[in-house]
Amino acid sequence: MTLAELKEKIRRPLLRELQDGAQDRVVVGGLERLVQTLARPLPELVRLFQGYRDLPPERRREVLEKALRLLEDGKEEKEEGQGLEAPAHPLAPPQGRKKLAELGLHTLRDVLQYYPRRYEDRRALSGVRFLEDGQKATLLVKLLKKELVRTPKKGMQIVQALAQDAWGWRITLVWFNQPWVLSKLEEGASLLVTGRVQKRGKVQLLVEYFEDEGQESLSTGRIVPVYPAKEGISQAFLRRTVHRALEVARIEDPLAAYRARLGLAPLDFAYKNIHFPDSEEDLKEALLRLRFDEYLLLELKALLDAGGTVLGRVFRVEEAWLEAFRLALPFPLTRAQERAAAEILKDMQAPRQMARLLQGDVGSGKTVVAALALYVAAKNGAQGALMAPTEILAKQHYENLTRYLFPLGVRVELLLGSMSAKEREAALRRLATGEAQVAVGTHALIQEDVAFHDLGLAVIDEEHRFGVLQRRALLKMARIPPDVLVMSATPIPRSLALTLYGDLELSVLDELPPGRLPVKTKVLPHRLRLQAYAFAREEVKKGHQVYVVAPAIEENEELDIRAANALYEELKGLLPGVRLALLHGKMPAQKKDEVMEAFRRGDYDLLVSTTVIEVGVDVPRATLMIVENAERFGLAQLHQLRGRVGRGGLPGYCVLIAGEASQKTLKRLKVLESSNDGFYIAEMDLKLRGPGELRGVRQSGYPELRLGDLTEDTDLIEQARALAKEILEKDPRLEAHPLLRRELQAQAERIGFREVI
Ligand code: ADP
Ligand code: MG
Repeated sequence: MTLAELKEKIRRPLLRELQDGAQDRVVVGGLERLVQTLARPLPELVRLFQGYRDLPPERRREVLEKALRLLEDGKEEKEEGQGLEAPAHPLAPPQGRKKLAELGLHTLRDVLQYYPRRYEDRRALSGVRFLEDGQKATLLVKLLKKELVRTPKKGMQIVQALAQDAWGWRITLVWFNQPWVLSKLEEGASLLVTGRVQKRGKVQLLVEYFEDEGQESLSTGRIVPVYPAKEGISQAFLRRTVHRALEVARIEDPLAAYRARLGLAPLDFAYKNIHFPDSEEDLKEALLRLRFDEYLLLELKALLDAGGTVLGRVFRVEEAWLEAFRLALPFPLTRAQERAAAEILKDMQAPRQMARLLQGDVGSGKTVVAALALYVAAKNGAQGALMAPTEILAKQHYENLTRYLFPLGVRVELLLGSMSAKEREAALRRLATGEAQVAVGTHALIQEDVAFHDLGLAVIDEEHRFGVLQRRALLKMARIPPDVLVMSATPIPRSLALTLYGDLELSVLDELPPGRLPVKTKVLPHRLRLQAYAFAREEVKKGHQVYVVAPAIEENEELDIRAANALYEELKGLLPGVRLALLHGKMPAQKKDEVMEAFRRGDYDLLVSTTVIEVGVDVPRATLMIVENAERFGLAQLHQLRGRVGRGGLPGYCVLIAGEASQKTLKRLKVLESSNDGFYIAEMDLKLRGPGELRGVRQSGYPELRLGDLTEDTDLIEQARALAKEILEKDPRLEAHPLLRRELQAQAERIGFREVI
C-alpha cells in the first residue's frame, strides 16, 4: 500500500466519524485504536488521536478536522501542478495571449473562475440518417474532402465539403460566398456543424456555424459550456484554455476539513464540473459548492471588516426582572417580540460583545424590545443610550421609554441639540453621576462634553441614517465595549441582511401586535389622480390628517423645491379650506422638525412633502397617504411610507399614483395592494428590481457575486455565515487557513482593494 492509499484509507472513517457527530462509534474498538494500528507511518496522526475516546464531541471534532487537514496536506505535496496564482498566459498559444489579457484573465484562478454563462446539451447529436428536409441540426462529422466551386451563371463562390458522421453516413456541407472558409477546413478533422438541412436526393447542410473540434472533444458529445463572449474570441479558444487550466492547476481545497459535514463537493470537482459537467447532477453539485464559497468569502470579509469578535460585558438576567417588566406593560408581548427579546438577552449574557440588528416593520414594536434590554442593563447597574436620527423621533422614544421604564424605577434622560444650556447641563450631570440610567437623543448624544457614568448598552434606531462612524463614536463613550442593538424598519430580505450587515446578528419581528389593521392600498393610474384628492377631502372632513408625498429630485435642489411648491400650490387650489403644510428636502433640519411637530399637534390637515418623512413618527389621526409618482420609489420604501398612517386605531389608507403607468409598473405597485408583509415585499422588490437598488442601503466595498443569488440562497448563506464565524473564532486572522486568506486577497485585488487582512 502506498502512503497515498494509506491516507485515503484512514480518511474515510474519519469523515464518517465527523458526519456521525464525533461519537466515536463508527469503528469497533474506537478510532484511537484504528489510527494506532493503521497509521504507524504517520506518527503525528497517532499522537493527535491519543486519548480521543475521552474527549467531548466538540474537542473530537477539532481533532478530526486537524487530522483531515494533515492527510490533505500530505496529498498536496505529492501532487504536481501549479498554484492558482500562476500566470495564465502560458495556457494559450502565443497568438492567443492577448485575448486572455483582454478578458482580464491573468492567473489560473481567473481562468478557473471565468464561469460559463450557459450550457448546451450536446450529448445527443443528430445522425445524418435521421435528418429531415428543412430541419435545423447540429452534427459532429469528419471532414473527407473539400473544394471551392463557382456557379457558372451568377459566379457565386461555394465551399463544398464532403463529410461523414460516426456511423459512416455522408453529408455535403455548403458555405455560400465565404471562400475563406476553405483554408479553415482540414481534411480528416472533426467538425461540429450547425445549419439547415436540404434533402434533395443527396443530403446537404447549409452551414451557419462550425467549430473545428481538433483533438479534444470539448465542444461535442457532452454538456458544453458557453462563455461570456467577446468580439474575436471564440468559444473553442475559451474551452481549450479553461480545459488546459484544469489540467495544470493544483486545486487545493480550503474547506477540506469542513466540506464533508456540510455536504459539499470538493473544490477540484467543482471547478471541473462547472466548466465541463459530466451530468446535470454534477453541475448542480459544482454550483452549490462554488456558491457556498462565494458566500463564505463574503461573510469572512464582513466579519473581518467588523474587527472580528470583541469581548464585551457580561450581563446578568434574572427571571424576576423579566416578570416585573412584563407586569408593568399594558399588553402581552407578541411571540416575535418574545423571540427577539430572548435572542438579545442571550447575547447580553454572553462574554462576546453583542452586535445585533433588530428588524421589524413600522409598528411591530421594536421600542418595547429595546426597553426590555435597557431595563436589564439598568438592573445590572449599567447605563443605556438610545440614539435616534431626528429630534422628533428622539422625543417620541423618550416618551415611550419613560412610559415603560419610569414605573420600574429607571430614569430616562433626553438630550437634544435644541435644549437650553441649563437643561443640557443638568441632564449631563445626571448621566455622569449615574443618577439617570438611560439617555435618549440625537447626535447630541455623541458630543464631546457627554460623559456616561458607565455605558453598557447602545441602541441605535434606524441605522442607515447614521454612518458606521457615528455608531463607533457612540461606542467610544464606554470603558468596556458596550453591547449594541441596531433597530431598523427597513425590511431587507434575510439573505441580503446577512451579507450587507455581515457583522450583525439578525433578529426579526415578523408579526404585528394584534388588532392592527392593514393599511388598505390602491394603485391609481395618473389620469385618475384627482380621485385621490377627493378622498383626501373626505378624510379631512372627518377630522383626519393626510400625507402627500412626491419623490425628491435628488440631483437638482432647485427643481425639487419648485416641484414641491407647484404641488403645494395645486393642492391649495384643489382643496379650499384644508390647512396645508409643506416640507421639502432642502429645508434646514430644525424647520423640518417644527413643521412635523405642528402637523403632529394637528395644526395642519394635510402635509405635502418631497422628502422622506421620518419613518417612525406617530401621528395618530393621520389616516391617508397619497404618493405621487409612486413608480419612482422602491416597494420597500413605499411600504415604509404607508406604515405612517392608521397608527392610532383609525383605519389607514394609501393611494399610489403611478405617473408612468406601464403594465410592468402597475404590476410592481400592485404587490402592495395584495400584501402587507414588509419582508415579502422586500423579497419581491429584490426579485423585480434586482439587488442593485437595495445594495445602496450601505456603502459596499463588497465583491459582486458571480454565481450567488441573494433571492434564492438564504439557507446556504446562513450555513456559510455559521462556518465563517466558526473559523474566525478558532483562527481570528486566518493564520491556519492560508488558502482562504489567499482567496480573500485575490478577491480584494480584483475589486481594487490591495489589503484585506
Ligand atoms: P416600531 O418602533 O417597531 O415601529 P413601536 O415600538 O413604536 O414600533 O410600537 C408601535 C406601537 O405598538 C406602540 O404604540 C406600542 O405601544 C404598540 N405595541 C408594541 N408592542 C405591542 C404588543 N405586544 N401588543 C400591543 N401593542 C403593542
Ligand atoms: Mg420605531
